[in-house]
Amino acid sequence: MKICPKCKKQYDENQKFCKICGTALVEEKKKNRVGLYILIAILAIAVCAGAVVTGMVIQNKKQEAQQQEELVSKTEECKDEKKEESDKSSTKKEESEEVEKKKAEEEKTEDEKKKEEEKNKGKSKTRSNKRGRRTKRTMEKI
Ligand SMILES: [Zn+2]
Repeated sequence: MKICPKCKKQYDENQKFCKICGTALVEEKKKNRVGLYILIAILAIAVCAGAVVTGMVIQNKKQEAQQQEELVSKTEECKDEKKEESDKSSTKKEESEEVEKKKAEEEKTEDEKKKEEEKNKGKSKTRSNKRGRRTKRTMEKI
């Protein structure tokens, strides 16, 4: 499409001069202008996005740097505390193991009570079972 710059009338590509005023026709620039506006808008958006992204990246870097500094400071502060905590954690582990042992013993006593009840029901089996239980208890004590 060609357009007359004075009349702003549109003509075909074959026409070289305006039929009304006779001036040389020019390639229609509306599309190009629209394209330019789109390009400018895209560039503006890209610039804004880039600025935002760069700002976010900078903030992230700052935050990471701050976090790293905090971590370093915390680790330095915690070095002495960790030594104390390691001793405490070992004592805690021992306590937890003792609790687990007590629980296991309680469960065993309950199982033994049930077994004893079952043994009382069958008198002939009780003697052999008692011996077996005694041996098991002695083994557990050892
Ligand atoms: Zn014209």
